[in-house]
Amino acid sequence: MSDAAPPAALLLPRSLPEALDALAAAPELTVLAGGTDLMVAVNYGRLRPASVLSLRGVDELRSWRRLDDGRLWLGAGLTYRRLQDADLAPLVPALAQAARTVGSPQIRNSGTLGGNLGTASPAGDTLPVLASLGAEVVLRSAAAGERTLPLVEGDTPFLTGPKRTARRPDELLVAVVVPASAGPQEFLKIGTRNAMVISVANCALVVDTAARWLRCTLGSVGPVPMRCPDAEAFAAERLDWPALEAGRPALVGSDAAATVEEFGIRCADAARPIDDHRSTAAYRRHACAVLARRALRRAAA
Ligand SMILES: Cc1cc2nc3c(=O)[nH]c(=O)nc-3n(C[C@H](O)[C@H](O)[C@H](O)COP(=O)(O)OP(=O)(O)OC[C@H]3O[C@@H](n4cnc5c(N)ncnc54)[C@H](O)[C@@H]3O)c2cc1C
Repeated sequence: MSDAAPPAALLLPRSLPEALDALAAAPELTVLAGGTDLMVAVNYGRLRPASVLSLRGVDELRSWRRLDDGRLWLGAGLTYRRLQDADLAPLVPALAQAARTVGSPQIRNSGTLGGNLGTASPAGDTLPVLASLGAEVVLRSAAAGERTLPLVEGDTPFLTGPKRTARRPDELLVAVVVPASAGPQEFLKIGTRNAMVISVANCALVVDTAARWLRCTLGSVGPVPMRCPDAEAFAAERLDWPALEAGRPALVGSDAAATVEEFGIRCADAARPIDDHRSTAAYRRHACAVLARRALRRAAA
């Protein structure tokens, strides 16, 4: 039980416009979604929010829909449990795989996609998946309306560093927009035990068989998710795309093992790991190679 003083005010808006108006009037409000990061900070005395804006009653944020262009609009309030449901999981398999690895059932019932983005931990498990999907982050404020930022690419990404984002104080994270699955997707994670563990390293591989690209992103081995462009180009040149499109193995023949091996080495080269209380940089780099190879084998071999 925490001995933290209760916040001076707890606002419980029932709609998105109501929540945005409250934030416009008081941008210093601390936004609360599932509380699985925020309440840890409060309980450890790292945060003493004067006033809290809870998003629990904002149903718009808990939904998802298909946009006219076929992409998926995933509300920031979708929980990890919801991301695994049968209507959504097949459309974003790597995101569902990542969701399955997060915390415990209690954490997965409360913790949200928006909260993972809001915390912006380098170890956040959804972030490499979203980077490999080329996700766009949708932010909205009462005064300026909506703007969309790429997660990590370009000059103005949403993620600007470890635990730092481009969100303005009067904005809410409303959604992420991602393509629906168009090929194999894999998410793999390594930690100090099998469950209830923060990633020492993780890896998300997303393949689009029609557009013929693959993207690989590593997590927990850099300030933000690290894409592996050199490894991606290397593998893309060596895949049998028609076979992959037909659901058959796309890495065959005597070169297949060497391709997988080299892919792992090139991915590990893209990592910028550090030594910390969870692991060493050397182990993390080794883990990146193992995870990347395993992901490519599962996706294509
Ligand atoms: C026991 C335990 C195990 C965990 N295991 C994992 C794990 O395996 N992998 C992993 O990645 N994480 C893990 N976490 C961390 C946490 O569960 C996730 O980061 C989760 O996604 C946070 O979501 P939340 O809804 O609880 O966010 P909150 O704690 O409510 O908020 C987190 C941050 O995001 C901001 N925020 C939330 N929603 C919005 C919004 N819509 N607009 C603007 N800002 C917003 C908040 O202001 C706050 O700064 C674990 C946590 C615990 C306590």
